[in-house]
Amino acid sequence: MNADPVQRVLESLAARGKPVRKEGAGWVACCPAHDDSRPSLAVGRGRNGDALVFCRSAGCRAAEIVAALGMKLPDLKAGSAHAFLPTIEDSHRPAQGSGFRTAKEAAQWLRSKRGAWTRIHHYTDAAGEPLGIMLRWDYGDAEGKPRKYFAPVWRFGGSWRIGCVSDGRPLYALSELGSIGRVFIVEGEKCADILHSIGVCATTSSFGARAAHLSSWLPLAGREACVLPDADAGGTGYAHEVKALLEALELPARVRIVRLPGLRDGTKDDVQQWLENRHHGDADSAFAELQALADAAFAQEGGAA
Ligand SMILES: [Zn+2]
Repeated sequence: MNADPVQRVLESLAARGKPVRKEGAGWVACCPAHDDSRPSLAVGRGRNGDALVFCRSAGCRAAEIVAALGMKLPDLKAGSAHAFLPTIEDSHRPAQGSGFRTAKEAAQWLRSKRGAWTRIHHYTDAAGEPLGIMLRWDYGDAEGKPRKYFAPVWRFGGSWRIGCVSDGRPLYALSELGSIGRVFIVEGEKCADILHSIGVCATTSSFGARAAHLSSWLPLAGREACVLPDADAGGTGYAHEVKALLEALELPARVRIVRLPGLRDGTKDDVQQWLENRHHGDADSAFAELQALADAAFAQEGGAA
């Protein structure tokens, strides 16, 4: 039996007909704990030498994955120090108290207080099960300046409440992220939707530029992640915080920050202006430019920030 826990995991996968492929700093294979047709299982080596396993599509728990490999959780440990990746479910902390029976009821109550919302964004888990919705109101203030207001409606156990889990929040479009390949990260659900509209795999954290640390970035463990900052100072700060969070994962993501060409510094320009001004809404040319920018950034060792 191999003493190295990572090698043991890789060998157990291969022995069970799950071919292992190198990806970034780790490996990927089909997850042995669920019916997996595309490689969802990320395997990596933690800083202390432990084997790390993480199912990026069905969210299988480490205990289920090692059981399917004929191993036990302690077998993942290299020494006495250990750190298991929590699953997304583990990081949710349902609050006490009663709420609304459905998300729709809660949203209707909010509409009765604030009027019709401008946008609605749905949050799900990796399997597409609803977790919450984010409502957005755009309005003008007394001076006519554009303002926005967000209100989340979240599922806590069997009921829906106005509010959100305090940390470990799911990334946006979790069920769209797939399990392999490059993911683009933008600031805000609207920008992620814009990238989805041109066929790009994209996500964001909820609640704006200063709340990145409240989301769980685990689904991007070991993947290529390309952050596209907005043109303002907040956008730069967000990009660097996301990069730090992704690189701090036990199985770090490979991260590049890519500035979109043509954005006017210090404005609120983002992917919307880039798509409109540079590509006139042409999805094919925008998609090609984005992937080429990312390819160039990842080709650079270490990456420019
Ligand atoms: Zn799985």
